[in-house]
Amino acid sequence: MTANIASAAPQAAPEGRYAIAVHGGAGRYEYDQFSDAQKAAYKAGLEDALRAAQKVLEANGTALDAVTAAAMSLENTPLFNAGKGAVLNAEGEVELDAAIMRGDTLEAGAVTGIKTVKNPILAARAVMEQSQHVMLQSAGAEAFARSVGLELVPNSYFITPQRREQLERAKASKEAMNLSKFGTIGAVALDRHGNVAAATSTGGMTNKQWGRVGDSPVIGAGTYADNASCAVSATGHGEYFIRATVARTICALVEYKGLSLEDAANQVVRDKLVKMGGEGGIIAVNTKGDVVLVMNTPGMFRGSLKEGGEPYTAILADE
Ligand code: ASP
Repeated sequence: MTANIASAAPQAAPEGRYAIAVHGGAGRYEYDQFSDAQKAAYKAGLEDALRAAQKVLEANGTALDAVTAAAMSLENTPLFNAGKGAVLNAEGEVELDAAIMRGDTLEAGAVTGIKTVKNPILAARAVMEQSQHVMLQSAGAEAFARSVGLELVPNSYFITPQRREQLERAKASKEAMNLSKFGTIGAVALDRHGNVAAATSTGGMTNKQWGRVGDSPVIGAGTYADNASCAVSATGHGEYFIRATVARTICALVEYKGLSLEDAANQVVRDKLVKMGGEGGIIAVNTKGDVVLVMNTPGMFRGSLKEGGEPYTAILADE
């Protein structure tokens, strides 16, 4: 369905400079947890996503197409908890959630609990562009995805041996869900036309109850975009992110209280969420091209790229 992401006609005479940020999940990562080869592989996955978005934006494409391209790249990389390589629920199956939003029109689309759509972000985008609705769930979302011609795969396509082992460890550890690491993916972008967009895609949390939906597909919680403020994609313990309406609150602080993007993100992620006990982080961009990558966990797979600059990728908080 690459036609889907190349569909917007290039617009004339763009004036601004683009900016992109991506994440591959936040968590309690430790310095010696990853080998050099693993760190390099994660960073290469993040950089591939930045480059995929950059390609769109360099051609004067839209932020919407850029975040779609970045999210698809991360969904197709088995290292991250979205699309191929997503975590397993308590039944040993993959159930995927995704959302996308554009900041110029405030249109949004989301899917929850889908099991057979190869790229859930395309399903979310199709809901936004080809249905009357904002959110479709499980069987209804899958039937819709099929009706618009999205590529379907068996659930086994998403499952990797590492995720099976992770589920077994989580079940043995009596933790209801695996809280140590969140691997959701997300992308935010500003295009040369001055529009922002956000996309988030996830398998949720290891050992989650069948039918559980996290924050990622909930507009205003894990995903939000508004040209009047910013675009945000979150990763973390979804139950907290839903109750703190993280993404929309950050945008609202910028829009109504005039906070800088950084101050707004810090207030929600490093203060409010910490007081609630909600671990995780966010990436955000505004129409000025400010990019923030903020977490309250020891690490977050993340990357950013501004027009004319070099890609930055990092894992630990202090990198
Ligand atoms: N936020 C996701 C969820 O709760 C998990 C993650 O960020 O990895 O579903």
